[in-house]
Amino acid sequence: MPDPALLDAVEVFAAHPSVLVATDFDGALAPLVLDPADSRPLEGGMEALTALADLPRTTVALVSGRDLAALRELSGAAEPLVLVGSHGAEDSRRPDGLVLSQEQRDLLATLETDLREVTEAHPGSRIEDKPAGRVLHTRGIDPQVGAAALDAAAALGERHTALVVTPGKEVVELAVAHVGKGTALVALAEELGVDAVFYAGDDVTDEQGFEALAQDPDAARAARRLTVRVGDGETAAQFRVADEPGLVGVLRAVLQARARSSAGG
Ligand SMILES: [Mg+2]
Repeated sequence: MPDPALLDAVEVFAAHPSVLVATDFDGALAPLVLDPADSRPLEGGMEALTALADLPRTTVALVSGRDLAALRELSGAAEPLVLVGSHGAEDSRRPDGLVLSQEQRDLLATLETDLREVTEAHPGSRIEDKPAGRVLHTRGIDPQVGAAALDAAAALGERHTALVVTPGKEVVELAVAHVGKGTALVALAEELGVDAVFYAGDDVTDEQGFEALAQDPDAARAARRLTVRVGDGETAAQFRVADEPGLVGVLRAVLQARARSSAGG
């Protein structure tokens, strides 16, 4: 059973005229597993969210670091649930899924062209498409050619200073945007014009979400937030549940309270 103070907070939250109920996926709705492809939501969580999304003035969103396609497949979520993927860089409501400004889209096109030149000059190096960037891979090719390719790609970050360059082992990622769950959550709340936001998650990236909601420029909405950390570890969330089944219990409580309040009870 969720703690009584959390259940009280759920009642208060559910009574606001319009709400956004958002949650992380892995480690929140779905237990963490060794192979990320095996991840599946616990019974009851998606059911509660789907029922919530059918209630008036209630929007439900899954907010994940996974890309949109994987999030859709693993969660089984369908409209009207909103899926926010790639830490906020993808949104299922956008025609192509991408949340990018025109400037960022232009930069992505330039990056594509410039990186092609790099791969042509360094045989065997290859480009991986990411929603908001590109990754150059050099694994398995001549080490000298590979190192030169990585240098050339990283140098693009000097030519285009808006690029976020993340070097790795035989790999360099160049991103046109790093959105972050916090920014994505507040932007979604603002766009929907909701009075209050619920958010639950288990990880470092979710902490950004808890913090951003606490510092929502709409101070009234910030005061009405309800944030829940799943599992242990330091947190900026207001409440905590022990594990994923604990979160399912909270989501069921949110559903019951919201159904009652929208029935006029
Ligand atoms: Mg997680």
